[in-house]
Amino acid sequence: MPHKTTITTKILIAMVIGLLSGSLINAFGQDVAVIQTYLVNGLFYIIGAAFVNALKMLVVPLVTFSLICGVCGIGDVSVLGRVGIKALGLFILTTAIAITLALGVAALIGPGKDFANAQSLSDFTPPPAPPITEVFINIVPGNPVQAFAEGNMLQIIFFVIVFAIAMLMTGDVGRQLAQSAEKLNEVMMKVVTLVMDFAPIGVFFLMARTFSEQGIGLVMPMIGYFSAVIVCLLLHFFGTFSLLIALMAKLNPVMFIQKMRSAHIFAFSTASSNATIPINLQVAEKRLGVDNSIAAFTIPLGATINMDGTAIMQGVATVFIANVYAIDLSLSQYVIVIGMATLASIGTAGVPGVGLIMLAMVFNQVGLPVEGIGLIMGVDRVLDMLRTVLNVTGDATVTCIIARGENALDDSIFNDPEAGSVTEIELPHKKARL
Ligand code: ASP
Repeated sequence: MPHKTTITTKILIAMVIGLLSGSLINAFGQDVAVIQTYLVNGLFYIIGAAFVNALKMLVVPLVTFSLICGVCGIGDVSVLGRVGIKALGLFILTTAIAITLALGVAALIGPGKDFANAQSLSDFTPPPAPPITEVFINIVPGNPVQAFAEGNMLQIIFFVIVFAIAMLMTGDVGRQLAQSAEKLNEVMMKVVTLVMDFAPIGVFFLMARTFSEQGIGLVMPMIGYFSAVIVCLLLHFFGTFSLLIALMAKLNPVMFIQKMRSAHIFAFSTASSNATIPINLQVAEKRLGVDNSIAAFTIPLGATINMDGTAIMQGVATVFIANVYAIDLSLSQYVIVIGMATLASIGTAGVPGVGLIMLAMVFNQVGLPVEGIGLIMGVDRVLDMLRTVLNVTGDATVTCIIARGENALDDSIFNDPEAGSVTEIELPHKKARL
């Protein structure tokens, strides 16, 4: 019997071993200077951070070439507009459902009601959150080169779409350029595969470092808040997304979740939707069967503006902090939270920890003490990892729904469990990569 291991399985194993080793170091190696200096802040940190850089390295060129191919693949500006409006509508709808769910569950569970000593626990001075008007103005890049250099996704997406539309309008010249973009895209996809080969190692070190720093014990005092967020994340993941996938995309939700596995692992270990774009894009096209013309557009856009998990954290956090400070929220304040958290999630960049900073904007609007954020900072890293999984799943869900509506979903790929999974088959004498 040939022994088969997919790269995803290897990454999954690496993740679990990393998590266990990190937790062990946290429990027994906290005071051992050698372990802290050479392992946690040495080897783990260097390789983990280098791996995240390698993922980030892929994002800008991949999104650029892929999006040009996507827009040119759609070929018609009015279809593009329709896809764009549908994407935006679905992103906002799923986020609003997420936050409403979060407020409902949190109001039921009532996390933070018996929390003592809020004042003495919190000495957090929040960084200023950007005003929401800036978020909109900044979609248009004053300088595209700067946008590319800084990796500002929303600006890059805006510029590339305008550029690709102009390509469509310039006939032959544009067509030749589109062909080159396709070739470049293919090469970039290969670069993704090369980086993925190192993923088991990268993921191991990322997990080991995170969990050697974040002991599970830290979670205990915050267990009410922590579990309320997790309940909502699970409900949205298995409830809302599965329903949408079954009803609107007419796909099997179990198969969908299975096929999303590698994107989930990357989202969890990097806590960054942005860094997960290359993997989510590959999963959408090769595993879920979505045409590049749709995925290339919705996945990067979703990673930038669609954050259901973040909105959930913000909803629960609002109720939690209101309870801790014994502030009663009125119905209209709840409605403001829904609106603000939806906007905040659009303005949240897909990188670790930003959701917490944007929370300041929500708190400001409803008049909650912003320094309350200091209370939940300690447990945020683990929740960040979990909510990023939800964020990328939301992007893929919307992608599938739109692809279904645009006749851009290949069911034979979706229904084939092996489609797109890179497999290594170990033969007695040689190792062949498929
Ligand atoms: N880490 C999240 C993401 O990248 C954003 C956040 O909630 O902080 O999707």
